[in-house]
Amino acid sequence: MSRPKKLELDGKTPDLGFKVYKLDKSNFHFWQDYNGEEPQELDQQLEVFQTPLQSEWDPKAVITEIMLLEGFPLDSSLTKAAQFKVIVAELLERHGSAWLETDMRAHVNPARMAVIEQAAHNLVKKFHQRCPQCRWPGFDVVRRLPGLPCASCGLPTALTHQWVYRCTQCHYERQVLYPEGIKVADPGHCELCNP
Ligand SMILES: [Zn+2]
Ligand SMILES: [Zn+2]
Repeated sequence: MSRPKKLELDGKTPDLGFKVYKLDKSNFHFWQDYNGEEPQELDQQLEVFQTPLQSEWDPKAVITEIMLLEGFPLDSSLTKAAQFKVIVAELLERHGSAWLETDMRAHVNPARMAVIEQAAHNLVKKFHQRCPQCRWPGFDVVRRLPGLPCASCGLPTALTHQWVYRCTQCHYERQVLYPEGIKVADPGHCELCNP
């Protein structure tokens, strides 16, 4: 059996670079209401707003500012439009078609990152819920039982009546009644009152 080869850089210079950001003034003009009485001054202000960008704007800085305003993280990857067009043209020539889609990878997609962040918070919260009997972490809901009584006739409905928590370590179970704080079901959910 041969040992796996050592990782080699095959002559390429590795990318060891990193970016440094500092807080700076915006690349955009911010409109300030004019309260004076000199039409010329207002004229000058309007002149400045012919373009929304500051005179010494830098494309990279503007893209970074827009990305931040739009909620993209600082490590989002960017490809120049021209480079992108070349890649697509090459693919089209070679294969006749190309599939384009938004980048949904978890580490570059802000919507997915928000969901993952929430999942992490939920996991931490769950971890802190300890079994009342053995103190094992992760005491969590394993079943939701129906049977919330109808407000009008009292018959059990299909709505959740209780949650069952279970310990994965000692298997202790605890039922929690009316977990959502609602004690009766709207008769609209009742088989008898609303067949
Ligand atoms: Zn337990
Ligand atoms: Zn009913």
